This record gives sequence, C-alpha cells and structure tokens, in this order.
Amino acid sequence: MKFHKQIEIVEVGPRDGLQNLKDWIPTEFKIKLINDLIAAGINTMEMTSFVHPKAIPQMKDAETVTKTVIGQFIDKGARIFALVPNLRGAKIADECGLKEITYVVSASEKHNLANINRTVEQSLDELAKIRTELPNIQIRLDVATAFGCPFLGDVSEDLVINLIKAAADIGINTITLCDTIGVANPKQVYELSQKVSKEFPNLPLGLHLHDTRGMGLANYLAAMEAGISIFETSIGGLGGCPFAPGAAGNTATEDLVNMLNGIGVETNIDVNKLVDISRVIEDTLEMKLTSHMVNVNTSCTGIQ
Ligand code: ZN
Repeated sequence: MKFHKQIEIVEVGPRDGLQNLKDWIPTEFKIKLINDLIAAGINTMEMTSFVHPKAIPQMKDAETVTKTVIGQFIDKGARIFALVPNLRGAKIADECGLKEITYVVSASEKHNLANINRTVEQSLDELAKIRTELPNIQIRLDVATAFGCPFLGDVSEDLVINLIKAAADIGINTITLCDTIGVANPKQVYELSQKVSKEFPNLPLGLHLHDTRGMGLANYLAAMEAGISIFETSIGGLGGCPFAPGAAGNTATEDLVNMLNGIGVETNIDVNKLVDISRVIEDTLEMKLTSHMVNVNTSCTGIQ
C-alpha cells in the first residue's frame, strides 16, 4: 500500500462536536479543550461557528472563544478557523482576526433548505457576496451531503461536481467533501475523491466523514489510496448534524491517528494525549463517547 507520508488532520470537535450537545458547555471548557488539542499536536482546527444564537445556542460564545485563543495559536503557526453560514458571520470572523472560514453548501437542495434555510442558488449568491466583501479571506467550501442525503437519498457525482464548479468560479480556496450522515462506502469515497481531485487539480481537497455506520476509518483509507491527505475528524467522535436526523458523530480523531501511526503515516499528533482529552470530556460532560481508543483498556494498548 502506498500513501502520502504525512496527513493533515483537521480537528472539528469544538465546532461539529459541541454544536450538537444540548446542555450548555461553559466557554472556559471550550477554550481549555481547544488549548489541550493544540498541545496534543493538532495544528489545524475548526474551532467554532458564527451562526445565529437562535439556530445553534451552543455557539453563542463564538466571538469570546475566538478572541481568547486566536493570538497565541496564530503565533504558534496553527491554522484555526470557524464555520460561517452567511456574510454576517464571515464579517464577524474577519473582525475577530480569522484568516480562514468554512462555508457550507449542500449538494442536496432539500438538505440545504433544512440546514441553512436557503436554496443552493441563494447559498452561492451569499458566497459571492463574501468573496466580494472579504477578498483576502481563505474560504473552505464544505460540500455537505456529498455522498448521500437524509431527504434525497443518493446524491449524484454530477450534482457535487457542478456545485464545486459554481463555487470555484466565485472563488474558494479548499474543497471538503462531507459525508454528513455517514452513508458513504470506500468505493464511493475513492471514486468521488479521484473525480473531484482530477476535475479541480488546483484546489486542495479534504474529507469530512461521519461514522454513523462504522465506515469512517475504511473510508479514510480509501481516500488515502485516492491520494487525499486532508482529513477532518472530531475528538472522541463527538458530533452529528442538527439538521440531518439520525447522523452520528465524526470519526474519532484518536482512532484515525492510531490507525495512521500503525501504518507508518506521520501526523505529529500524540494519540495518548488525545485519549486523555476524550476521557476528560467523558468525565466532565458525563457522556459516553463513540471513540474506540478511549474505550481500550490501558493494560492492553501500551497507552500509559
Ligand atoms: Zn459534520
């Protein structure tokens, strides 16, 4: 098997993970979590979301979180960014000093309406406004439901390609294919990843996979065979989608790092520290995480 020697892990737990928790998570806990993840070696992170507090109350402290952590991490060379649903969110992110944002559009019209309350065309119009008003900000396009939709079922490759083409014409900097509800299989991941990277050779391509059906690691491996090296995961496997019924969390960051360590692919991330962070999440938030590594008995892992 031949892979990239190095994989870029994008930690999305503080955004995708925490946004799905109904009970309020104190701002201090969020800031500590982000700090601990960086200390474990995470260098790229989607750490919050500038959404309307009524839509996702858990993210109402996005400005405080960003302003608290931004200086020290940018100084350390870490890349931190936030999800924004519209121009208003993008402007706040920019005012907070972020150089990069994630903007989500669903390949499926119905999911886009449920998720953002806009048609795909309206979402692209908003993207154009962001690009015009903030010409220097780096935009990561999240293509939600790229592998399947809770409302539409199958999503065709053409739907995905056409959406990316339209966004690329407006001006984006990175593409992320998202398996929002965890329905993708390795063959589908391999084929779509190859197709998109061939079609858009100048745009870095990443994957954001949910592990609803236990396919996460197999799908990342298939993506690696297709030459992809940017993977979004969530500490402990936290997450879901508030507007995609039944979706589980992302693949756990520690599970992917553990697999990559095993096959000799470098991440520069300390898996033991990640497991410690997940255990703190379980204890503090009194919840059971889906991560495999966090549930491994220390006596049979070599984890100290
Ligand atoms: Zn997600």
